[in-house]
Amino acid sequence: MIRDLHNDLISKKITSVELTERYFSVIEKKEQEIGAYLTITKELAMAQAKLVDEKIAKGEEIDLIEGIPSAIKDNICVDGVRMTAASKILDNYVAPYDATVIRKLKDCGAVFLGKTNLDEFAMGSSTENSAYQVTKNPVDTARVAGGSSGGSVAAVAAGEAVWSLGTDTGGSIRQPASFCGVVGLKPTYGRVSRSGAVAMASSLDQIGPIANSVEDCAIILSRIAGEDILDATSAKSGDKKFEDYLSGNIAGKTIGVPKEYVEGLDGEIKNVFEKSLEKFKSLGAKIETISLPHSGYALPTYYIIMTSEVSSNLAKFDGIKFGLRADDENDAEASGDELPKKLLETYLDTRKIGFGEEVKRRIMLGTYALSAGYYDAYYLKAQKVRALIRKDFEDAFKQVDFIYSPTAPEVAFKIGEKSKDPLKMYLSDIYTITANLAGVPAISFPIGTVEMEKKQLPIGGQLMGKWFDEEGMLNAAHTYEIN
Ligand code: GLN
Repeated sequence: MIRDLHNDLISKKITSVELTERYFSVIEKKEQEIGAYLTITKELAMAQAKLVDEKIAKGEEIDLIEGIPSAIKDNICVDGVRMTAASKILDNYVAPYDATVIRKLKDCGAVFLGKTNLDEFAMGSSTENSAYQVTKNPVDTARVAGGSSGGSVAAVAAGEAVWSLGTDTGGSIRQPASFCGVVGLKPTYGRVSRSGAVAMASSLDQIGPIANSVEDCAIILSRIAGEDILDATSAKSGDKKFEDYLSGNIAGKTIGVPKEYVEGLDGEIKNVFEKSLEKFKSLGAKIETISLPHSGYALPTYYIIMTSEVSSNLAKFDGIKFGLRADDENDAEASGDELPKKLLETYLDTRKIGFGEEVKRRIMLGTYALSAGYYDAYYLKAQKVRALIRKDFEDAFKQVDFIYSPTAPEVAFKIGEKSKDPLKMYLSDIYTITANLAGVPAISFPIGTVEMEKKQLPIGGQLMGKWFDEEGMLNAAHTYEIN
């Protein structure tokens, strides 16, 4: 898709301004129903598109993604553009600089249509925790698009952007990609700089691309990857062009299917998954059953480590440095308190009014897990189990090239179906969180659909690769996709 549009631009079939306008007209038509965007950046997009057209007119060479319209999750800073992270606490916040990924994309001539909806601070699996709106699944608008990057994914699935950026702490790129029938990639931890993305859980967060094809994701990854002086955890990875590794051949590769992941599968998802295994076999891959013995501990481990890091990362939102400050009469009324007079009251009231329920729940859980007397029993223990989970992957990757499972244990659920039950919601991440805990790259791509209420609901398959083997993993998913 990106390549086709690029060819249309350089052969002057269409200008970038026309292409961008075309996407804005889709947005105009569909946004009311889908709710993918929180902020539209039309002026910025048109200015970016114009520059590209000038370059083309002068006969200059343009990059593959130059002039092609995209969307950015609203927890990634774009200089001068409002960034809410879907929280009331950042309602009036304007980003004062570009995230590293944004700077890199701007250098390539990308066009940004707007900022997309998410669960507040990326905490959730459905965008129902957004302080602003619920993003609908374009396949069936009675259902969630998934989350937390639901806006970025729905934008691509609804044709409101060619590609987008999301963030993935426990599955936030992959689970919505699975729900909406598009491709979503979480890179290896450290592959992409996190500088300028609002931190949720810093040891798990990664920025990654969402698009209509594996190749498009590879193209975007090549342009955002690399070491960054502003993120000490970013790794040197050269300037690999991941799209050049898509040979379309996986003969002889070994794909491991963890028995712990597929034991509980049933019904249609199981059928679709088994068919996809047959397809991998027909492409020359060997399928092996493997064990990731500590999988059963992944969810509790994630919810202790993630909430601990959340409680620390979100301490900075106190009414002084960023966004909302509860220091006037109206805010005091909203919080039901007397006028706040002291500094502590400003902190407390700001956080009381500014944060939503799920964010508060996680801050409290994390603060508890980190507190003296409980640290050893919870946080330290969780870190030890995390090491065991990582070891499971090290052992498995001695035996196989990739690990494969469904992305989620379910298809997109109905809006409201789980929003009252956080534990049920957490289970949506059962297959995705291990990649974040271990730090390996993972990709979700469409492998079939299940018919429900006359709608064909998409199912995603998830491939996980060895640390920094995005090229191998992308090639495996690409080979599946094109055959
Ligand atoms: N759904 C998961 C959670 O609620 C993952 C979120 C994410 O990856 N940002 O924590």
